Amino acid sequence: MLFIKKENMGKIKIFIDDGCLFMRIFTEKNIKNYMEYVNKNIIELNEVIGNCFQCGEKLSVLELPKGPEKEVVCLKDREYFVEEYEMLIEEGELKE
Ligand SMILES: [Zn+2]
Repeated sequence: MLFIKKENMGKIKIFIDDGCLFMRIFTEKNIKNYMEYVNKNIIELNEVIGNCFQCGEKLSVLELPKGPEKEVVCLKDREYFVEEYEMLIEEGELKE
């Protein structure tokens, strides 16, 4: 059995047979805010845009996630990106 419930904070809760897991759904605005944060605090965007922010490879040759986060991260690094993103939210560096 599997069913999905929408939670606040852009997360969905997925119930599976032996428990549940959370998945973060990003909006265009989330990613825009993240890019602004990176540009202001880490590195100029035009130096990294088009590449995965985690592994640095060209996004055009990588497998990409489905959501708007495909602008900043490849599919295999999505999990790290989610962790980083959640941390920034928790620390108040980023707004939902
Ligand atoms: Zn990557």
